[in-house]
Amino acid sequence: MTDDTTQAGRVRMHAGGPEFSTVIWGSMRCEEQFSSVSELADFLRFLLDHGVTTLDTANVYGIPHPYTVEEFLGKAIAEVGRDKFEIVTKAGIQRISPHRTVNRVRHFDFSEKEIRRSVDRSLEKLGIDYADAILLHRPDYLMEPAETAGALDALIAEGKTKHVGVSNFSPSRLKLLTSKLKAPVVTNQVEFSPIHVEPISNGVFDTAMLDGHVPMIWSPIGGGRLMTGDDEHVVRIRGVLAEVAKRNGLAGAAEAAIAFVARHPARGVPIIGSGKRERLEGAIQAVNNPLDRQDWYDVLAAYEPSLSI
Ligand code: NAP
Repeated sequence: MTDDTTQAGRVRMHAGGPEFSTVIWGSMRCEEQFSSVSELADFLRFLLDHGVTTLDTANVYGIPHPYTVEEFLGKAIAEVGRDKFEIVTKAGIQRISPHRTVNRVRHFDFSEKEIRRSVDRSLEKLGIDYADAILLHRPDYLMEPAETAGALDALIAEGKTKHVGVSNFSPSRLKLLTSKLKAPVVTNQVEFSPIHVEPISNGVFDTAMLDGHVPMIWSPIGGGRLMTGDDEHVVRIRGVLAEVAKRNGLAGAAEAAIAFVARHPARGVPIIGSGKRERLEGAIQAVNNPLDRQDWYDVLAAYEPSLSI
């Protein structure tokens, strides 16, 4: 490893977009990780000390019941100071929950009415006046492009968000939305890890580079499955990552996975879901020390030998 700094850097997500930290923290699991608001607030202070200023959340997050994370996170943000963070939240997933009793079926809804309802609720629960970016969470196949784009542009005009983006969008879905949208799409938040490599070959990363937006990367270690999974495929990949970590002076396979993610020229910014400080420090070191070409292909070949020939 050439650079052992534990300080995250900065990245502009799009020419007309926000500046985020090069490591983002994801709040999806925070209710399991922190037993009180003050414990979470202390963790947020730790993130700030390491330059991690960007927080990812979503209206729907909550364990065991959806729709509860934003209130918990919002209280911790209030203790630390909203202006110290860039806050990204998401709208569009409809889950069955005591907090959303109108839902009979899990579904997706990008209607203007639902986007507005979801964003207003997120701002209220988070206790903030505006988000730095609002993302459409998962494709709604019933999306009317002009209606959805109009709703996003209106949220910016009304000051409810600084920027807009998408998540889990294919290149053609993205094109459909941007055909009607005035604001730039500042990111596409997608899954990418040594056990989920689709964005490198399905046009998602190529489109990001062509459009000039930086992807946000969710589950960079597969939500933990990369480290705990016992199927033959995952075990093989983890073994290669452990070797790569040793060669690069990284703490272990999880950090090598993050260094793998960071190496792709789309320069995707990983969203780290761990609530453990040492894992955040390891992730920052990994992002600051992306793999070299041969180590990257070594990991890719463990995923799918035919991809590297
Ligand atoms: P992740 O960083 O891949 O996984 C984090 C999980 O792995 C935590 O449970 C963590 O446990 C565990 N873990 C980390 N290092 C480990 C190790 N060395 N050994 C064993 N377990 C380890 O990411 P994620 O939490 O799945 O997702 C990150 C964020 O992405 C979420 O918080 C959310 O903001 C976002 N997200 C977005 C979408 C979307 O559709 N847009 C979907 C999923 C997630 P510890 O806490 O114990 O370290």
